[in-house]
Amino acid sequence: MTTWQLHETRLPRVLERWQETAEVRMPHRGRDGEATLDVLGPGTAPELDFRNFVLPPGSRALLRDGAVLPTGTHAPDDGPVVVVGIRPCDATAIRLLDGRRSCVEPVGPAPGPRRSRLLLVSLACTRPHMTCFCLSVGGAPDDERGADVAMVPAGEELVLSAHTTGGQRLLEAAADLLEPARPETTERAEELLWAAEERIAPVRLRGLGEVLAGPIDPAVWRELGETCRGCAVCTLLCPVSAGGEREAPTSGGSRGSGRSTAGRDRWEAEAGTAVRPAWQRRAAWWEDRVRSLFGAAAEAGGGYLCVGCGRCVRHCPMSLDLRAVLRRLRGPG
Ligand code: SF4
Ligand code: SF4
Repeated sequence: MTTWQLHETRLPRVLERWQETAEVRMPHRGRDGEATLDVLGPGTAPELDFRNFVLPPGSRALLRDGAVLPTGTHAPDDGPVVVVGIRPCDATAIRLLDGRRSCVEPVGPAPGPRRSRLLLVSLACTRPHMTCFCLSVGGAPDDERGADVAMVPAGEELVLSAHTTGGQRLLEAAADLLEPARPETTERAEELLWAAEERIAPVRLRGLGEVLAGPIDPAVWRELGETCRGCAVCTLLCPVSAGGEREAPTSGGSRGSGRSTAGRDRWEAEAGTAVRPAWQRRAAWWEDRVRSLFGAAAEAGGGYLCVGCGRCVRHCPMSLDLRAVLRRLRGPG
């Protein structure tokens, strides 16, 4: 596989080249750390965001099935839409959903007819959040599995590689602006990735499928059911959630309480689920969720149904930490 390098100052010219035939979108970070995938207007300076941002449901729907495409004027109706700077974990999640494997529900909705128009240019995550655990679920800050083109920062340079024929076409369209990656550039990129990986705390999962296949102390699920408020923020923000009916512990009960922030309140309002179903229902949902994401069936189907983005951990109003649950279930050794 050939890798290319591009000085960051030349990125606008590459994007202009892609804009000749495609609608180009980039994440734009707004309030509460969330980012929308805005159409890049002609002459707009691109801003690369190396942190783990939240993609709200509207943007995830766009990635999943092209539900809101096209909104720009820079591509013919049937032309490609290039999303530049997406997080590698989000790109991997889209790939899982393409295969119709979804959080909790093993079979999510089929990709929309316009999904095939989307080309994903991922940007390696050099500033992982303390809740990220992608390394533990088979991912990495530079995970290339869902990307058509993968970009890795290397100081002022970007290292680019194509991973699909669509990605290959993108790089060919800008070939005169790229040069083969020099060894010192790829070394610099590797250093940055190692530094990022060192910031990601490991969660030992090997053998968890076997544990989950056996009997589990019911107190584990009860504790979770009694703490969880059933707000559904975790599934609302999960990139592998396909929005299935069984994907959130919602319905019935009285309004919950607990710590909250403006962002969480808003997401809860968006979910329309700031209610408190009975603890038994929440406990059953937690059990279903953990078994579906990490159980033997998920492993047999090709791997965990979680990309370790850590957003469910970061934004849970009750500070429920999926990683802690997994550590407890997996046990030492
Ligand atoms: S860490 Fe949480 S939000 Fe992220 S993919 Fe896994 S279950 Fe979904
Ligand atoms: S975000 Fe936390 S409190 Fe809300 S449903 Fe998920 S686990 Fe329960």
